[in-house]
Amino acid sequence: MGANPHKQDSERHLSDRFMPPAHPFDFDYARDDDCGDTLHEECGVFGVVGVTDAANFVALGLHALQHRGQEAGGIVCHHPDHGFNSARRFGYVRDNFTKQSLMETLPGPLAIGHVRYSTAGSKGQTAIRDVQPFFGEFSMGGAAIAHNGNITNADALRKELIERGSIFQSSSDSECIIHLMARSLQRTIPERMEDALRRVEGAFSVVAMTRTKLIGVRDPLGVRPLVLGKIGDGYALSSETCALDIIGAEFVREIEPGEMIVITDKGEIESTQPFRPRPSRFCIFEHVYFSRPDSIIGGRSVYETRRQIGVELARETPVEADLVCPVPDSGTPAAIGYSQESGIPYAMGIIRNQYMGRTFIEPTEQIRNMGVRLKLNVNRALIRDKRVILVDDSVVRGTTSRKIKEMILDAGAKEVHFRIASPPTAWPCFYGVDTPQREKLLAATMSEEEMREHLGVDSLKFISLDGLYRAVGEAEGRKADCPQYCDACFSGEYPVEPADMIEKGFVMKAAE
Ligand code: SF4
Repeated sequence: MGANPHKQDSERHLSDRFMPPAHPFDFDYARDDDCGDTLHEECGVFGVVGVTDAANFVALGLHALQHRGQEAGGIVCHHPDHGFNSARRFGYVRDNFTKQSLMETLPGPLAIGHVRYSTAGSKGQTAIRDVQPFFGEFSMGGAAIAHNGNITNADALRKELIERGSIFQSSSDSECIIHLMARSLQRTIPERMEDALRRVEGAFSVVAMTRTKLIGVRDPLGVRPLVLGKIGDGYALSSETCALDIIGAEFVREIEPGEMIVITDKGEIESTQPFRPRPSRFCIFEHVYFSRPDSIIGGRSVYETRRQIGVELARETPVEADLVCPVPDSGTPAAIGYSQESGIPYAMGIIRNQYMGRTFIEPTEQIRNMGVRLKLNVNRALIRDKRVILVDDSVVRGTTSRKIKEMILDAGAKEVHFRIASPPTAWPCFYGVDTPQREKLLAATMSEEEMREHLGVDSLKFISLDGLYRAVGEAEGRKADCPQYCDACFSGEYPVEPADMIEKGFVMKAAE
């Protein structure tokens, strides 16, 4: 490092600039036609050390994690001669981080990145300064940090930090970690990060970097995923294994709940457990919906777990019918499992338009009202005069389910039976998943029979919480006194008290 560490470490923002929408009518139907009727993972993180042009690997990793966030992406990298550089962009990874002119500005063997989905309240209001990774300069050098999850005491921390003189650059909760690190009296950046994260509550899978180290940390409950991979002499950290596959990295293991792993540019790994040990509470919805089906969680493919959910669903909720059809694409593995267990033929009764992404058609009210029809179409020849079981991953507000039911009946189906591969979603998530407010969740205000009437279907059944636990590999089901997973959006039992939300008036479920 040179005589002036600040000169060496200053992150170069030359490649960070505001990118307005490509066209005033550039309207993303793939996201907006669900009217908040789908749960969205809010972030994906990826980092790599010990490879030439690490930023290219990070761009590929982020592309594989695009399902976890489509609004914006960012990469920070470090080169021994060129210091830290960064780029943050709105939009898809493929539209930004494939340009040679941009990637040439991101040299070096160490890089981290982040893809972001904005929360319902901030959709379309995100500023480029809210796009991660965040960068901070400390007396011992610079550090960048990217975070997947949600800090449940961020408001209180932000208030305290501002009162003590911190100046925030963004509206993102994750910036609290940088300010807490700045106030720590520890000697090294990893030690400062430990210090900072001990003050943070909620769910956090963090990927961070210094000039020579890649760092990964999972919160003590391990709510959000983080995995380690090996590529040549280097290492990668990723939200999911599917992003290791795309760069040709070998899956090594999952980062343990509460573990901090520090990997040097020489390939040395140090693992510590900086937090008080607690039973893990991984997000069970990652199995149902968020993770890609080709990822591995807990030693089993997500696809196989979802197929097993369909098997359990068929055992718990049998019905006489002619066809089992998935609601594409997330209902597909569960529908296959339902069909295999029930013996009722599987059919692609609904076809997804694979190319329905961004469109330049002016989003008139009429086109908006087409909603689901722009994305999904019924295979009429298959459906006519049939009793159809539709398998979907979840029911959030119910608006999409109603439209799909209408399309199936319009196509001449005799009966429509909904089977749902998760229990009723009756509580919001405060751990990094975008959910509507509680009163907007159909299951928060209606019984199962009321939901059936509201959707206008012949039958509606959900997998039980115990059945879901069995399907994800817990043979004995859910342990009521110590659940093996976070299932708060179904049970209302929050493993970490959502302090900020309680302060804002959220009422938790009363203890039984
Ligand atoms: S509340 Fe639901 S979506 Fe959120 S972490 Fe828990 S299980 Fe996952």
